[in-house]
Amino acid sequence: MSRMISLRSGAVRKGNQKLIKSINRNIILNIVREYAPVSRADAARISRLYPATVSSIVNDLIAEGFVREVGLGDSTGGRQPVMLELNTGAYLACGVSIEVDHLRVCLTDLEAKVMVSEEQALVWQDGPRKCLPHIVKAIRKIIDTQNIPGDKVLGIGIVYPGPVDTSSGTILASPHMPGWGGYSLKASLESELPFEIFVDNDANAAAWGEKWFGAAGGYSSFLYIMADYGLGGGIVIDDQLYRGRNGGAGEFGHMTVDINGPQCKCGNFGCLDVIASGTAVTRRIIKDIKSGAETVCKELAGGDIERITLDTVLEAVAMGDSHACAIVEESGRYVGIGLANLINTFNPELIVLGGQLALKSDVFFESAKETARRRAWLAFGRDISIVPSVLGQDACMVGAASLALTTVFQSPGMLAYA
Ligand SMILES: [Zn+2]
Repeated sequence: MSRMISLRSGAVRKGNQKLIKSINRNIILNIVREYAPVSRADAARISRLYPATVSSIVNDLIAEGFVREVGLGDSTGGRQPVMLELNTGAYLACGVSIEVDHLRVCLTDLEAKVMVSEEQALVWQDGPRKCLPHIVKAIRKIIDTQNIPGDKVLGIGIVYPGPVDTSSGTILASPHMPGWGGYSLKASLESELPFEIFVDNDANAAAWGEKWFGAAGGYSSFLYIMADYGLGGGIVIDDQLYRGRNGGAGEFGHMTVDINGPQCKCGNFGCLDVIASGTAVTRRIIKDIKSGAETVCKELAGGDIERITLDTVLEAVAMGDSHACAIVEESGRYVGIGLANLINTFNPELIVLGGQLALKSDVFFESAKETARRRAWLAFGRDISIVPSVLGQDACMVGAASLALTTVFQSPGMLAYA
């Protein structure tokens, strides 16, 4: 967050007054977000805007509730300046994550800090028409129980584990979940709820959340990789999510890593997902136990191997179980090879690793990181930063909320970090 926000004067001169005002407003709001506590004079110096312009914008932001005064700062010769910071609790966003067998809903403040969250079972396979009433009810409940006036809710972000057309909020394809493909989640929710709805793919939203509120703050180009039951990712290039032609960019798990490998749920063979995802790791442990492998996983699952989950495997790894460690380490190596391919393709500044595999197991994280660095083309691999997700297990849900939150911080006219 050390880089200053600056204006490219040529672009501003060509803009109309309303656009210029909106750009300046966003610049000041982001300076307060990044540099708080910050004085009006410092905000003017950082933004290179006239002090009178900054004062007027700050007055508007205070009146709207986005910014507040927080006492006096150190004097640099004259009067002590009044310091400013974000009024983080003044507005909220709701984040909703549709996951394999449940729904997670949260309310966050302006800095994406989770204020309250709830989880409930959701039979995703039942299709959208049966699921929608549950989703609407969960959103209403979390807003009602917190007693929040509707005009304080900036919007509702909802994420889905599949490709999404974000402009219409439509689920594009869902070959294994009947009914979801072609379903307009945005229109359906907007007909039930008086809020603006933002729909995106879960890993894209998580990447967006990491950019604005997590591990990738200040980075323009980075990759977010989610290593969980499935393997997914989000690509941010020049401060924008890269979605690809059909919203399918970032399907990292479906790169082929074994030409003779087993068939993946996508229909292809030898995908990274079918070999190294959390689902694959769990299946492999169960298969190995059936073949006589020694591991504590069976005991951890109460003797019933069909009850072994990724959690069970990661618990066994934490206990030092050698078989579970070997399988998770190998999964990390495969994912590391996938990362090396991505590093050679995108030459990113940073890779953020999230999901249970990466966050709960150092064995996996180190294996993936070391393999990626070793296998990437030397010049690209040498100085790449590979870091764990800051949003952690909440990345999708908080990422969903960040879709609504960033409408405040990002305007179409906002210029890139210089
Ligand atoms: Zn696949």
